[in-house]
Amino acid sequence: MRKRILLVSLSVTIIGILLFTLLISDIFYRDIVRQANEQLKIYAGFFDPEELAFDEPSALAFSQRLGGARVTFMDAQATILADSFGDLSEQSRGDREEVVSALLDGEGFAVRRSATVGQSMMYYCVRLSQPVNVGGALAENCLLRIGIESSSQTGVFIDALPTMAWFLLLDILCCLIFAWIATNAVLRPVELLTKEVALSGGRPVSSRYAELQPLVKMMNDMTAEIAEKVAHVEEERRMEKLILDSMEHGIVIFRDPNDVILINKTASTLLGCDPNEPIDLFASDHEIADILTAGEAASVYRKIEGRDYNFRFTFRPDSCVLLITDVTESMAAMRSKNDFIANVTHEMNTPLTSIKGFAELIETGAAPPERVQGMARTIIKQSDRLANLIRSIINFSAIDSDELPDYEVNVSELIAELIGSFEPKLRKKNIALQMDIEQGVVVLSRRERLVEILNNLITNGIRYNKDGGRLEISLTGGARPELTVRDTGIGLSEEDKERIFDRFYTVDKSHNGGGGGFGLGLAIVKKLCRRAGWELSVESTLGEGTAFSIRFCPKPEK
Ligand code: ADP
Repeated sequence: MRKRILLVSLSVTIIGILLFTLLISDIFYRDIVRQANEQLKIYAGFFDPEELAFDEPSALAFSQRLGGARVTFMDAQATILADSFGDLSEQSRGDREEVVSALLDGEGFAVRRSATVGQSMMYYCVRLSQPVNVGGALAENCLLRIGIESSSQTGVFIDALPTMAWFLLLDILCCLIFAWIATNAVLRPVELLTKEVALSGGRPVSSRYAELQPLVKMMNDMTAEIAEKVAHVEEERRMEKLILDSMEHGIVIFRDPNDVILINKTASTLLGCDPNEPIDLFASDHEIADILTAGEAASVYRKIEGRDYNFRFTFRPDSCVLLITDVTESMAAMRSKNDFIANVTHEMNTPLTSIKGFAELIETGAAPPERVQGMARTIIKQSDRLANLIRSIINFSAIDSDELPDYEVNVSELIAELIGSFEPKLRKKNIALQMDIEQGVVVLSRRERLVEILNNLITNGIRYNKDGGRLEISLTGGARPELTVRDTGIGLSEEDKERIFDRFYTVDKSHNGGGGGFGLGLAIVKKLCRRAGWELSVESTLGEGTAFSIRFCPKPEK
């Protein structure tokens, strides 16, 4: 800007000086011409026809008298009779401007370049009123022309150039000083404002110069607007990050494993990488590396710290999106379903095979008559087992759709009613039953649900007990009634304790032989307790025994 101001002021003044010089030299020149005209007229007045003749010596003498001016004598037809600047006799000057004017009007003046002299001349030509002596005879209307050297307009201008050069130097100096003062005066407030804005850190700025107030206001308004927008964008970013980081799914967007655009907290934890680091897994896992090379949507399953994850890769033109989903539960459900199918198939297959085999033997008459009755008993036993399996499955799925209302059930009485039906089994295994039942313990439920729970726990207490073992059933009342079924049986390992409540989970298939269950009993107990909000727990020591406890919900308010 300083340079610009300097250049503009310099150009303006230089052009100004040039124009001024041209103008002045023109005025000066015109004045010279006017003065020369006057002077030449006076010179012409000095000519005395009685003293001087129109011949060569007189021309020279008159020229000398006029200080060397050119003197030309011409006859009435403008033919030169004598010229102080050389022998030009007999030449005509009738075409010269000043001569033409003199022939027409009596006198004429012209400034022009002389072909004879070879320089700029000013001429004055006058037709003489008196007769002059031409070669001894008197001649009328003769023309007298007097010429002096003149400086041309360009000459005057060139003469003025050295002075002009000094002026220009002075002008440049003045311009420099002016530009410095002007730019300082104009730019200083702007520079001060710029400095203040730079140091303001987004705070409003001010200026003591009135001219800058609109600018300051505009800047402050813009700063406030920008700050608001930045805050808005930051808040949005924060929210986006919060949402992404609180997602249970892992998300990674990357151009390549070394160029991760976005990775949320779950993904960086699962992949064990820093958001700014390349993702190792992509390089070390060949299947994933192949997917990335192929660039087509695909899924793989990976186990990380004991949990199952689905890695879903989808591709965009410039990047790849990886969605990591925890599928442990659905995988477990799938496994459980597969177990279920395998179990049901196996459980159904065994009795069906023996039913079919014995029935065929009876039908073909191949069975010895004395064994037919035993075979029929086996068929009935296996049929009961099949029916039990089907009933258990129906019971298990019926819990979800059971919307029947609860009522108060006296658990103390229910246990007393049920225990009689277990007598044969207890006797068969020689198990001692020990009951510690507090009377009048009431819980809010339905009879059939409590029967299902008691049947399962007591059956297991007998089934997985040792011959000659002990079965203890205790029930306490109070704020939270509690039922415990404890046996001195085979017990459970720590690992099995975790899984016995899973559907169709049985610790040892050999237990199922004959009277063994299908692994649905405890799953039903757990499901019923969860729906009712009761706490179910198990304590067990392998080889020593197991105790199942249920803490019912607080007694209903009367
Ligand atoms: P099942 O009908 O096979 O008994 P449950 O769901 O009732 O099915 O039990 C699941 C598994 O838990 C059983 O197969 C058994 O191995 C184990 N189990 C259940 N109760 C006991 C217990 N009281 N003592 C030892 N193991 C038990």
